[in-house]
Amino acid sequence: MSVLSSPHFHDEAKAFEYLEGIVWADGVTCPHCGTVGGRVYDLSGVRTKPSKKNPEGKLRHGLKKCGECRKQFTVKVGTVFEHARLPLFKMLQAVHLMVSSKKGISAHQMSRILEVQYKSAWFLMHRIREAMRSGDLAQPFGSGGGAVEVDETYYGYKRDYVGNRRGWGHKHGVVALVDRDSGQSRWFKIDRSTADQIHPIVLNNIAREARLMTDEATMYRKIGRQFSEHGTTTHARSEYVSPLDRTIHTNTVEGAFSIFKRGMRGVYQHCAEHHLHRYLAEYEFRYNTRTANGFDDRQRGAEAVKGIVGKRLTYEGPHASA
Ligand SMILES: [Zn+2]
Repeated sequence: MSVLSSPHFHDEAKAFEYLEGIVWADGVTCPHCGTVGGRVYDLSGVRTKPSKKNPEGKLRHGLKKCGECRKQFTVKVGTVFEHARLPLFKMLQAVHLMVSSKKGISAHQMSRILEVQYKSAWFLMHRIREAMRSGDLAQPFGSGGGAVEVDETYYGYKRDYVGNRRGWGHKHGVVALVDRDSGQSRWFKIDRSTADQIHPIVLNNIAREARLMTDEATMYRKIGRQFSEHGTTTHARSEYVSPLDRTIHTNTVEGAFSIFKRGMRGVYQHCAEHHLHRYLAEYEFRYNTRTANGFDDRQRGAEAVKGIVGKRLTYEGPHASA
């Protein structure tokens, strides 16, 4: 049976049950007064006011009432799904499609699959990317002395760039770090690949006891001394693994970039620069929950859904058609 045949992808009541099971794993939380596990009344069966379109009103799924503050809520309140107008089961389908497609999925394709308007699909996908964004900076990578690989990549063209088209100035820049021990990654957007942009990222996210792995770029030389070891390979000489020590390489992070680049070229060609951080969150999420890290599609979907809480996306409109 395919994952997509699960009832919560097709039935609105089941979709609410599924979401409640994940968001309220530690007890129902009232989003108005914050009470956890307090008295909550189930208002199932309540309908909206009758309208021309729905003379009998629409069933309000998942409606609850808090026994403490007397206010009503559903599990969607306070999440990125709160103001989305699509049925919840379709939004959960969208989460599944995004987490299970390696390179990503275009908003056009999503709108066809879900049978919703392009704009709705586009905006829903940004909501889901927001859910995928890691909320806090946990432990620095390489705590315990492990190897952390750092690399930058460039792709596409900045829309309004004027100036020299040689070099990387007119391209979007991305820095990624991969912690080899945990298999986790962090991705950052940069304007220029200069020391002042890259140094804070490296210093804030990698423990000093780590073994830092980079290519020969000069901007890593100085900060490299702050770590227990700085291993470099000379890509200019086509050296991808150090002949002196086979553990010195950046092949892991380059592998992550190759998926990103194929996706950005094939699926999200028109990603505008001011949305890039959300696309990065999507790739980072999929990389960190990849099969090699012990996740299957079902677990990946649940993990993404957990991230909907406490994040909201204000409407900025679909400037880009990625
Ligand atoms: Zn309450």
